[in-house]
Amino acid sequence: MKKILIGTHNKGKFKEIAYLMSKKYKKISPETLKIPSPKETSKTFNGNSKLKANFFSKFVDYPVISDDSGLCIKSLKNEPGIFSARLAKRKGSFFKAMKFILKKMKNKKDRSAYFICSLSYKEKRKKMVTKIGKINGIISKKISGKNGFGYDPIFIPRNYTITFGQMIYSKKLKIDHRYIAFQKLKKKIKIL
Ligand code: IMP
Repeated sequence: MKKILIGTHNKGKFKEIAYLMSKKYKKISPETLKIPSPKETSKTFNGNSKLKANFFSKFVDYPVISDDSGLCIKSLKNEPGIFSARLAKRKGSFFKAMKFILKKMKNKKDRSAYFICSLSYKEKRKKMVTKIGKINGIISKKISGKNGFGYDPIFIPRNYTITFGQMIYSKKLKIDHRYIAFQKLKKKIKIL
């Protein structure tokens, strides 16, 4: 069976990417190989997803797919953005980070936000392919739902009235930013 390394230590992301990919692949995680995470030194989602793909591909001789993603909130100058994971770490949990965001948003009229995902695919001796996916929505007034991961309980995608956290998980996987990026990647990398 062909192998692919899904370059992320985030269990939620790993599960989503693995679900989107062809059953032909044995999906390997960096944890299994005891590979650490690289430092996310770029200021952009594309920069960080490429940096991760390059980093992880040094450890294996099979393809790597990596993701950099985050939640961007318009009235907070697109924060937490590339710092989405780091905000949760700084606050102690995603729950605390979501409470922090809701407090900051208390008097904001504009609650528009988007989730964005940059996916990079790297095969040895081949050019890397990177694609972006984005889903617009709004930040809810309260934390709702237990499905998904990360900031899912405060994000209501456009054309819906429930948060990603309240949505049936299999539904979220078919509409979100990662799904959109993956469909674009699949057009270039037919084997995925
Ligand atoms: P990073 O790409 O490792 O920097 O982490 C991105 C962070 O963005 C994740 O840890 C989550 O906090 C958040 N995030 C990205 N995609 C999603 C999603 O689909 N749902 C909820 N949170 C997400």
